Formats: sequence, structure tokens, C-alpha cells
Amino acid sequence: MPTYRDEVVVLRTHKLGEADRIVTLLSRRHGKIRAVAKGVRRTTSRFGARLEPFMVADVQLYEGRSLDIVQQAESLGSYGADIAVHYDRYTSAHAMVEAADRLNEAEATAQQYLLLVGGLRALARGEHASRSILDSYLLRAMALSGWAPGLAECARCGAPGPHESFVAQLGGMVCRDCAPTGAARLDPAAARLLEALMAGEWDAVDAASSGASAAASGLIAAYAQWHLERGIRSLAHISSETAR
Ligand SMILES: [Zn+2]
Repeated sequence: MPTYRDEVVVLRTHKLGEADRIVTLLSRRHGKIRAVAKGVRRTTSRFGARLEPFMVADVQLYEGRSLDIVQQAESLGSYGADIAVHYDRYTSAHAMVEAADRLNEAEATAQQYLLLVGGLRALARGEHASRSILDSYLLRAMALSGWAPGLAECARCGAPGPHESFVAQLGGMVCRDCAPTGAARLDPAAARLLEALMAGEWDAVDAASSGASAAASGLIAAYAQWHLERGIRSLAHISSETAR
């Protein structure tokens, strides 16, 4: 029987028939995997809660003709419970797995897997503000896929910074000559926060004002939506809440 093992994060699940579920996984070595978990919705399931969203597991899969079949699952990190009890952690985790689900096969690398596991673990432990963990995750996930926003030099002409405008459609911070008429000017503190989020400078991130954090979050959401063509539904949800 052609079977294989891998470490995976559960991105999403949906019902199949009476008791089964199709699970979408981001794996460490096999990219994205869609597999059937049989009997997982029965209370007596041997999988327990190990194949719920945000869970990290070591799984053994059987290669099926269209979908693979999960044979075994051992928990490597049960972050779901600690995430689900806090609304802000849940919405951030949801946006993270949704962004990961948008990765194409070539982008679904081991680095993306490790970045997502690290982000979910930080959310579950409440290491920083949930939105900051999401923002840092989105910037780095896009950078791994070759879409890092330009933050120092002008994203369009390369003129050295610092610059005052961030334009998602142009790829990041742009100089005065390249900024379209009416482009909003970004507070220098928010511009520095973008760099800290990208670099993982958590002391600077945690010390940022709520105004700078909100400005940076809005730009990162706009930038992520621009690049992940179909848009991230849960991000739109969070943005509208921030605006209220
Ligand atoms: Zn320029």
C-alpha cells in the first residue's frame, strides 16, 4: 500500500456523508494535501479532535486515486482549544489558515509550514496582541512567496527612503514622485512598525501605539488582499470591525 507520513497543520474541514470529513492540510514536506478522515465525526472516532482546524499533527496517509485517506493522526500541538476561547485569537487564526490555503503548490513549502505553526503557537500562548501576530504572519508569508512589500526604498523606482506613502497596488512604500495623487500619507511610527513586524522585532511591535498598529494592520490587510487575488474573507471581517 502506498502510504506516507508527514507533519501537518489542519487548515479547514468539511463534512462528507454521514460521519466523514474532508480535511485540507498544509504539510511540511508534501505541500497542500486534501484527504478523507473516515468516521471522524463519530464520538468514538480514533482521531478525536486531532483533525480540527489549527491542530498540528503527525499523520500517516494512504494515497488514494483522487483524495488521500488519513490512517493515523498523533497530536504535535493542540492549539485549537486555546485559540477558540478567545474571539480575537480565533479570527486571527482563521485569517492565517485562510491565507495559507491560498498558497499554490509551488508556494506550499516547509518554510510556510513552519511559519504557520509558529504563528498558531504564538496565538495559542497569547504571546503578543493577536492582530500583531496575524500582521507579522501575513508579511512574512508573502515575503516567502516572493511578494515582500518594499518598506525602505521606493517600491516603484528604488529611491532611498524613508518615504511617506504606502500604496498596496505599487508594492509598498513609494516616494513622492511615484505616489498617485491623493495617496494617503503614513505616520512615520506606522511605517517603522511595518518594518518591525516584517523583521519580528517584537519589543518594538509590542510597544507600538494603538493608532500605529491600526494603520499598519489596515495597510497589511489591503496589501494581502491585493496579492491573494480572491481576497481573504476573514480579513475583510476583521477590517470592518476595526473601522467600527
Ligand atoms: Zn519612486
